[in-house]
Amino acid sequence: MEHDKHSAFLCSHVADGLRPVNLIAHERDHDWQFLCGEYDHGDDDCVLVCSACAFERFSDLSPYQTLEPGFLAECINGEWVISTFDH
Ligand SMILES: [Zn+2]
Ligand SMILES: [Zn+2]
Repeated sequence: MEHDKHSAFLCSHVADGLRPVNLIAHERDHDWQFLCGEYDHGDDDCVLVCSACAFERFSDLSPYQTLEPGFLAECINGEWVISTFDH
């Protein structure tokens, strides 16, 4: 598998497998975020991998590889909702 040139930031909870990914964001600079969606993160609470590795690890999120930059998908009450950053 090829590593991707774009970064993916995993919060420590999803990186450690403690929580599922509830928020996936494709930043305008093409970096990605895979987050648990909670708000209890410290400054160092993220793990950097490449986006290819992140999508390989969270293979159930592969439909969101097509998410355009500037969009995020958030799991709200079991439903994935896609929105833009500026809302
Ligand atoms: Zn990689
Ligand atoms: Zn987290």
